[in-house]
Amino acid sequence: MPNDLACLCVIVPCYNEEEMLPAFFEAVVPALEETTHGHWAILCVDDGSHDSTFATIASWHQRDRRITGVRLSRNFGHQAALSVGLAYAEGEYIAIMDCDLQDPVAVLIELYRTCMHDKLDVCFGIRGSREAPLWLRIAYSAFYRIIRNMADHEWPEDAGDFCVMSARCQRALLALPERSRMLRGLRSWVGFRQAGISYQRPARTHGRSKYTLGRLIALALQGLVSFSAIPLRLASFIGMGMGLFSIVFGILVLVNRLFPSFTVLHYWVGANPGVATILVFLSFTLSVLFICLGVIGEYLSMLMQEIKGRPAAIVASVIGDVCLHDSAYTLLEATAHGQVESLSTHELR
Ligand code: UDP
Ligand code: MG
Repeated sequence: MPNDLACLCVIVPCYNEEEMLPAFFEAVVPALEETTHGHWAILCVDDGSHDSTFATIASWHQRDRRITGVRLSRNFGHQAALSVGLAYAEGEYIAIMDCDLQDPVAVLIELYRTCMHDKLDVCFGIRGSREAPLWLRIAYSAFYRIIRNMADHEWPEDAGDFCVMSARCQRALLALPERSRMLRGLRSWVGFRQAGISYQRPARTHGRSKYTLGRLIALALQGLVSFSAIPLRLASFIGMGMGLFSIVFGILVLVNRLFPSFTVLHYWVGANPGVATILVFLSFTLSVLFICLGVIGEYLSMLMQEIKGRPAAIVASVIGDVCLHDSAYTLLEATAHGQVESLSTHELR
């Protein structure tokens, strides 16, 4: 390991976190200092904040050069911010944690030690219990159970993005070409040696969650569509079922016409068929049709995203001595071709 390479580099996505960041640094820096004997780094990814998040990162960089920052040109979302963090982070081990201290520092250290001790490539946090509204806990739990059953690879239950990973796992993640990136899914997809540690997830102490209901639904859909073809197949199964039903129905109508004494379906196809029945049948058929269209739409929108080949995000500026990994050039093409400004200490003040 080169002398200046951090033992542990922590990637921290931040979006409007001016209130939270000082408490975060005060809690994390001493723990990292002690655990790594000074060989740590923190890379904050400012995801297009509107408050003084980037200035706060800059002022902490003044105090300690091991704290660095990358600012995105706008808000690209949590998952994109994590991918950018991975593209810049340099360390023997890379950690991912939120800056709101809902991922406890003691657990970060435990993940790191377990990774080293057990020679793991990924050690992730399993959210044993979380302080969140009941509806949100039910929604999270349902999502993880559904994705676990539908995903085309093993997906650990209740594992979020909070983790420590080896540099080779980081490189494997960076080499994946897709733009639509749900990190926890890709992380389990790349494989290697992985294990989880259960922890209690406390509520935020400052600020509010940036995940609205809409963003959570989008993330859940992204996870399902990225890692499972079952919804697409479901559309075909529903279509085949509907086809079979209509054939049987047609035969019964025919039999009923040819042999009027055959009255099993008299109510349905006889002289008085019933408007309500037709309406129910029509609306049911239409709803199935729309569900199928919706599922296809989800996949198409993801295909469109991939075909367009846009980078996962664009980096606007960096603080401190950070540079992009070679393998991340495809992921952040626009970034690699040059418009990133490297802010000097003078500019940061
Ligand atoms: N975050 C981000 N970009 C966003 C939304 C969130 O970088 O568009 C960061 C946020 O600052 C925090 C982490 O992602 O460090 C998790 O966000 P949050 O705490 O709002 O999510 P929750 O814990 O409620 O799921
Ligand atoms: Mg949070």
